[in-house]
Amino acid sequence: MSFKALGLSEPLLKAIRKKGYETPSPIQAKAIPSVLEGKDVLASAQTGTGKTAGFTLPLLHLLSENPKQKFRPIRALILTPTRELAAQVFANVKEYSEFLNLRSAVIFGGVNQKPQIATIRKGVDVLVATPGRLLDLQNQGALSLKRVEIFVLDEADRMLDMGFLRDIERVMKLMPDKRQNLLFSATFSKDIKKLAYSILNNPVQVETARQNTAVEVIDQKVYRVAKGKKTGLIIKLISEGNWKQVLVFTRTKHGANKLCKKMISAGITAAAIHGNKSQGARTKALAGFKNGSVRVLVATDIAARGIDIPLLPHVINFELPNISEDYVHRIGRTGRAGAEGQALSLVSADETSYLKGIEKLIGESIEVEIVEGFEPDPNASTEPIKPGQNRNQNKGRRTNSRNSNSKGSGNSRNSNRNKSRNRNRNTDSKRN
Ligand code: ADP
Ligand code: MG
Repeated sequence: MSFKALGLSEPLLKAIRKKGYETPSPIQAKAIPSVLEGKDVLASAQTGTGKTAGFTLPLLHLLSENPKQKFRPIRALILTPTRELAAQVFANVKEYSEFLNLRSAVIFGGVNQKPQIATIRKGVDVLVATPGRLLDLQNQGALSLKRVEIFVLDEADRMLDMGFLRDIERVMKLMPDKRQNLLFSATFSKDIKKLAYSILNNPVQVETARQNTAVEVIDQKVYRVAKGKKTGLIIKLISEGNWKQVLVFTRTKHGANKLCKKMISAGITAAAIHGNKSQGARTKALAGFKNGSVRVLVATDIAARGIDIPLLPHVINFELPNISEDYVHRIGRTGRAGAEGQALSLVSADETSYLKGIEKLIGESIEVEIVEGFEPDPNASTEPIKPGQNRNQNKGRRTNSRNSNSKGSGNSRNSNRNKSRNRNRNTDSKRN
């Protein structure tokens, strides 16, 4: 991946070379194309990962593409929490725009405002500002935000920590409704999500693999359930909750197809995406899901990773991933305007060790619920099912195994049926 491949113009590529960057950082590679497409973007990546260039480069590209305006109204506003950060971002804007015909300025408090006002009077395309001084100068009539096309909230988490929420809201009212919004943050808390949804329209969410940060802010729940009752439970949850947009994860392609069929039989529009589907089928499924004609999208981890899905109210793990980090990726897709996002996991006995691994990674235990009629099987083995593993030879399984699906008490016939089902499942357990 190169900066050129991301679609940036030659004057920017020249500035990037001068700066000595060879390849885009992961968050840059993810964010830049979406910003160039004119989309609202919610980006989170740890500090020091190059977020500044992630928004500055495409922002400059977009501004330079459109003819410059005669009086140079402020067309892009970048808000940062502190003057140090404002100065730093401004320095970057200056460097990256060296070969473009764009003007920029920075304003922050604690220094004489006169030179700042004089600079703005001459006309600037890009203004970097801290909220306090910005509102101050606006109040004095020294600047107008009525022509802002692109609004960037940088270091949004620190903004909130520093109590700038009110100021941000005030600034928003001063800009035209129709504009592109970008929100960049090192962490991704519940409050950031709330803020994001008051600012962003249908945002593309981009993030680079986080450690265990910020997971604790997502509303998570585990349903302990017998393996054979998962399909019934998920259908109940989706229908009774009347959920309209649900992303469901399965561990295998086969599992995704099977679940999808069951959903459709139950009257829930659903589509599956995974590696075996053609690009056309995947695009169609995704489009249907985005426009609301498909309620449930069933995906495998690998298929879901490469696609841009806006934040969703509900993510359900039909099966837990055996790689704990995948769980963090999956549930990071939740959240939506007004409503809180929920990440639910259906967990059967054989997934117990996966659950433990996930809880260890995120550093907390997840709330557990059991739904009447969909109880877990108390006799099921907690031994994980591995690809190719045959349960019949599994010594970890209890000898008095009882099939929880059957109403009667355990007998050898049920037990055998249970085993043969497990055997079938073993053959689908290859990832994605
Ligand atoms: P963040 O906002 O994520 O904390 P910054 O935008 O401040 O990160 O960038 C951190 C450092 O990485 C800066 O010194 C910046 O110049 C450098 N940097 C940014 N992008 C690249 C890149 N593609 N290649 C090399 N260094 C980069
Ligand atoms: Mg930064």
